[in-house]
Amino acid sequence: MIMWPDRKRFAVTLSFDLDAETAWDSSSLDGRRLTLLSMGAYGRRVAVPRILELLARHDIRAQFYIPARVAEIDPNVVRGIADAGHGIGCHGYFHERTDEQTPQQNLQILKDSKAVLERTIGREVHHYRAPVWEITPDVIDGLVDLGFHSDSSLMGDDRPYLVGGAPGQLLELPVSWALDDWEQFAYSAEPAVGGVIENPDKVFDLWRSEVDGMRAYGGHFTLTMHPQLIGRPARLLMLERLIEYIKGFDDAWWCTPDDVHAQWRNGALDLPLHPY
Ligand SMILES: [Zn+2]
Repeated sequence: MIMWPDRKRFAVTLSFDLDAETAWDSSSLDGRRLTLLSMGAYGRRVAVPRILELLARHDIRAQFYIPARVAEIDPNVVRGIADAGHGIGCHGYFHERTDEQTPQQNLQILKDSKAVLERTIGREVHHYRAPVWEITPDVIDGLVDLGFHSDSSLMGDDRPYLVGGAPGQLLELPVSWALDDWEQFAYSAEPAVGGVIENPDKVFDLWRSEVDGMRAYGGHFTLTMHPQLIGRPARLLMLERLIEYIKGFDDAWWCTPDDVHAQWRNGALDLPLHPY
């Protein structure tokens, strides 16, 4: 079992992937599918302000992973998230899959997207999540070379671990399909995305049981959400119920990737090393 800071029993991170229009836009769509794109616009335009209000009311710092293109479309929303004290991480430029790029393209995307986000918010960006959680070995090498502090795309544990090996080691904050709102709520007829749009009560039960499991085993409950999905009114009410459920435990360590990285660098977290 990991010894979490302050003798806490398990860790909790709320993360939001602000894909906005990049979740739907691609060269084949040619910018003409306005209804599809508007689902993404809803995420940054309507959902983010509500999410920021909810997080502020509960005094929670969260992590937002943002494609660089979103910072170009709507720099003010990205600045608003950063100014509210939340962590910002890279998430591709146009939300491109890393396994569909060459290593050279992946490295350029990392450099360019980091630069765009840093220019937008006026502070350094050290954390990364691969679009659709699809990460390649060359991207991990690139993250180490560029001085990133963490990735959050792999599923090889339910506690933080180290990837990459000596001399370059990267902190990995693992994710899970069970803890992703995309799997529950995403839907589009064409292109065919998702299946059943789940009832928020069912999703609450799923995520509550995951909280109980992580607490029993001392794991890290990292929830991945997309503002365009979780930001619908009924789902935000469900998320607030979940926050209140977790807050009912006094042994949860609420943290961001910055917090985990700082504890690890201080020697306060003894983390396993998995080659990949
Ligand atoms: Zn994404």
